[in-house]
Parts: sequence; structure tokens; C-alpha cells
Amino acid sequence: MDKRFSSRLIHLGERSGESVSRSKTIPITMTSVFSFDDAESLDQVYEGEAKGYIYTRNGNPVHDALAEIMSGIEEGEAALAYSSGMGAISLSILAQVKAGDHIIAAHVLYGGSFQFIRSELARFDISVSFADPVNEDISPYFRPNTRIVYVETISNPTMETVDLEVLAQVAHAHGAKLIVDNSFATPVICQPLLLGADIVVYSATKYIGGHSDVTAGIVVSDKETIGRIYASGLLFGPTLSPFDGWLLIRSLRTLELRIRQHSQNAQELAAYFETHPAIRAVCYPGLSSSPTHAVAQRIFNNKLYGGMLSIDLAGGEPQAYALLRNLETIKFVPSLAGVSTSTSYPARTSHRSLSDEELAKAHISKGLIRISAGLEDIADIISEFDTALARIY
Ligand SMILES: *Cc1c(COP(=O)(O)O)cnc(C)c1O
Repeated sequence: MDKRFSSRLIHLGERSGESVSRSKTIPITMTSVFSFDDAESLDQVYEGEAKGYIYTRNGNPVHDALAEIMSGIEEGEAALAYSSGMGAISLSILAQVKAGDHIIAAHVLYGGSFQFIRSELARFDISVSFADPVNEDISPYFRPNTRIVYVETISNPTMETVDLEVLAQVAHAHGAKLIVDNSFATPVICQPLLLGADIVVYSATKYIGGHSDVTAGIVVSDKETIGRIYASGLLFGPTLSPFDGWLLIRSLRTLELRIRQHSQNAQELAAYFETHPAIRAVCYPGLSSSPTHAVAQRIFNNKLYGGMLSIDLAGGEPQAYALLRNLETIKFVPSLAGVSTSTSYPARTSHRSLSDEELAKAHISKGLIRISAGLEDIADIISEFDTALARIY
């Protein structure tokens, strides 16, 4: 489709049917299996001689429409949808490696991804080196058997932006693939494939779904890579419900609007926290004080920096707990990216599997609260934080 980003986001996936009228939206094909006129037709579909669907784990029209939208806005060749972000992430890695291989991963990662890479891969004799791709040259970590470099566009919960352009060059120079978890940025803000990444993965549970009611994952890449992940996914089996796929399509149509508002609110909230004496540090890539602001400015679209920020309370854990207790409409939830503003405490939620030493290495202090800026009026969000902070400071 030869259209601009916003128009693609609205129209991709639409079908021009055979009849003179058709559903304006993409219908939900809520079926686990498809029926055939005769055994010959089934045979032809299996052999790729006729178009058709067989069984939803192998494919469903909703999955295909969702994949078409995602690959279209991401400017990849193909995409797949799964029943969780971890499903998409684990498959994207597993489909590229075999026993004896080595991968390099950022040591600041979503807790589940970190645990998968550290503990699960080890059981299959796949070794890993954790590095800090934001602050160091990762070249020394490569080995002849390094297959993958795995990073997040915006690190969780420290909100540092990785220079994906440089990282893609380094990975390719060593014959490795770059996998990027773009869940916090979304394709509205960053399109990693255009910066040289090989595979982009999403927890669609977050901004792509955006309403805290779907658990899903997406992977976008070139046709050959997607073919390999598809073959593994068929057997590991994290199939997305067509209903959840339909909800994601519905959500995607408003992704750009939502991300603009999430980003604008987060930017204003970050500026407010920067002036508050109880706050030791504010982590947000849109602040000029962010150590990775320049990188973010270069690789992000539309001067948007996303809806996620973190604050470090000078009073440590007791003050962090008190703040969480004092908030009313701003809920404490171990997730993010819904329409309402929420908080999370990384040391005890997303990163609770990390030892104190690993927490320190990941710069996750006991005073750190992560905030997902919602779509409310920003004056109300700031006012609620201001009232809650006034009671503890
Ligand atoms: C939530 C999250 C995941 C895991 O996704 P699920 O949908 O919960 O399986 C992976 N990466 C990031 C950055 C996340 O925030």
C-alpha cells in the first residue's frame, strides 16, 4: 500500500470481497478448524495448490489481517501473532539457535525475557553474555558462535534508549542477528527494521492492545525468518485466540492517537517530577537531562518519547511504598500501557527474580517507581501525584 503511516494504520488488512457489499471491519473468524467440500480440496490446501485455512493453530484470517497491519506499519515483510509477548519472544529466539550457540543480551531487560535468556536457554546449552549496550561497546562479547543480540528499544525500567543503528551494524559485522523488543516504543515512535534490526518483537499486551484486556505477542521480520518462527510456533503452540486478534486490530486503528497522547502526558509529568524535591531522579527519554536523549531524538519519530517514565524517590523503599498507598485513581498494577495512569514497583514486580546484585547492576534502586502515563487530563494526573507526594514529603 502506497500510503503514509497514519493511513496505513487505518486501512491495512481490509478485504475487498467477492460480493457487492462487505463488512466495514475485519470480521472475527472464531473457529478452531475449517471445513472442506471434499478430501481433494483439503489436499490442495495442504499442498499449497489452493488458498484456504485448515486449523487455527496453522493460521486464521484474523491472524493474517493482524500480521498484514503489523508488517505494513513496521515496514517488514511478514509478521506472526501469538498468545503472549513471551510466546513471541521465546519463539523468536528459539527458532534462531541450537545447542552450542551463544547470544548477547542487554542486562536491563523485561524480567521474563531476562529469566528466559538466563535460565531456560542454559538448559539447552545456549550460553549468554549480558552486556550494557547503552553505555559500552559490545564488540568484545562476540564469539564465533554468537547468533543473536537481544535488546529493548527503551530499557525497562530505566528508560534508556539503545542506539539501534549502531548495534545493528556491530551485530551484522559479527554475523549475528539483532532482535529488538519494541513494546515500549511501538512502531509509531520507532521502526527498528528501518534502523537495521532483523527481528522486532512485541508484548502486544501493552500499547498495541492498549486497553489492559488482551494478552498477546507479535513478531515482525523478513519472510525467511518468519517462516522459521512459524514452523517452530506450530509445534510449541502459543496460538492467539481469533477474538483477541480481532481486539488487537481494533486497538491498532487508534494506536497513533493513543501514543501521541500517552507521550505528551508522560513528557509533562516528567517535567513536573524534575522540579519536585522528593524526587532524586526522573528517567524519561524525552527529557534533555536523559543520558540517552540525543539517541532518542535521532532514532524516534515525530518527537514522541512514549508513555513510560520512572522516578527515583530520595526516601527509598519506605517512601516508595507510602507514595503508592497515597494514590487514589492511579492504580498500582504490575503491568503498563492501559488507558489509565498506573504505577509499578520494578524491584518487587517485573524484576523480582533478580538478586540484589543484579538489581544494582540494572540500576533498579529500592526508591524506583515506574509510571505508565494514561490518557486522562494531565492536570488531574499531576494533581494526584502532587497531593500524594505532599503527604510524605
Ligand atoms: C510485558 C512485557 C513482555 C512480556 O509480554 P507478555 O505479553 O506479558 O508475555 C516483554 N517485554 C516487555 C518490554 C514487556 O513490557
